[in-house]
Amino acid sequence: MISPLMPVYARQPVAFDHADGMYMFDTDGRKYLDFYAGIGVMCLGHSHPALVKALCDQGQKLWHTANTYRIPEGERLAKRLVDASFADTVFFTNSGAESIECAIKMVRKYHHDKGNKGKYRLVTMASAFHGRTLAGIAAAGQEKLTKGFEPLPDGFDVVPFGDMDAVKAAIGPETGGIMVEPVQGEGGIRPLSDAQLQELRQICDENGILLVLDEIQCGMGRTGKLFAHEWADVKPDIVACAKGIGGGFPLGACLATEDAASGMVVGTHGSTYGGNPLAMAVGNAVLDVMLAPGFLTHVVEMGDMLHVRLAALMQKHALITEVRGKGLMAGIRVPSIPTRDIVSDLIKRGMLPAVAGDMVVRMLPPLILDESHIDEAIGHLDAALTDFAASNAAD
Ligand SMILES: *Cc1c(COP(=O)(O)O)cnc(C)c1O
Repeated sequence: MISPLMPVYARQPVAFDHADGMYMFDTDGRKYLDFYAGIGVMCLGHSHPALVKALCDQGQKLWHTANTYRIPEGERLAKRLVDASFADTVFFTNSGAESIECAIKMVRKYHHDKGNKGKYRLVTMASAFHGRTLAGIAAAGQEKLTKGFEPLPDGFDVVPFGDMDAVKAAIGPETGGIMVEPVQGEGGIRPLSDAQLQELRQICDENGILLVLDEIQCGMGRTGKLFAHEWADVKPDIVACAKGIGGGFPLGACLATEDAASGMVVGTHGSTYGGNPLAMAVGNAVLDVMLAPGFLTHVVEMGDMLHVRLAALMQKHALITEVRGKGLMAGIRVPSIPTRDIVSDLIKRGMLPAVAGDMVVRMLPPLILDESHIDEAIGHLDAALTDFAASNAAD
């Protein structure tokens, strides 16, 4: 019999009761070091006092209004995001998938309004993840996402990850843009190099097409810059954002330049919940913390430290074949053991990492962590890999 809760997730046998800062507590009172942050969402950790206060204060005043009225908190959040980024304008959504949908529609509308009606296709990269809408799964093009859901929306040309020649070869008269994650998350914590991102910008410029970046996982401070593309000094046309932007409240955003958004006039797009007062209050509170002096420097320092410690762990454990990532978006590749087994083992030890593609154990800790949490995580990983190596040797 099907469970009342539709069984689409492979869930770990643990349920949490409450959480504070870097730690989560299960319904039996056991404590866990959170190195997953609910897929990188809890960027300021759990129960951050400023976020709790923003949510409670706004909850007393006004939760929701239709977007037929002005929402001052949203005007303020959009202005702050614009001031802090490449963008000139922002559309608020409730999730990453909706931010991607807005980005795809914006590319089509841009070319339509410029009189290039046939330019509707996007070049994307294999092992990407762009959310679970029909367009999102078509854009990622992975069989594990698309199988059984055909026919898929047309308009996506998937090339091998990081293959710049294939990108160039895929561009034709119908191509309207290129859409990539600067650092692939679900696909295995794989960064594109700065040179690759710069080349993508150049290819877009040469062809009069738009560069769309999916920064839903790697954005909002995760790599130590507000957006990951800033490391490459590249100016995108459109950026899809979600996850960390709401610090745990469902919030997404699609950021764009004035030119890229030139077709998005009254009546072309919308969302009932998108950008409602409750979400905007929390979003502003997240930015208060993230844009405060020193916050992103801390992320860079902690990210560097985590990568140094993971590299040392790789020296010690032959089971680790690669350390990947950028800032506090990190992965270790352990190809000889099912990733799910490693994650389950670490959960039993009191640490929460996650699975990513390509046999990678993924770590997306809250950005507020300190050195002691890195020590603790490395200790758990070291102990787990020591035991796996011993049982592998015994087989
Ligand atoms: C999570 C994610 C999405 C989808 O976001 P949802 O909020 O689950 O719809 C899209 N792209 C990337 C890179 C993601 O990590």
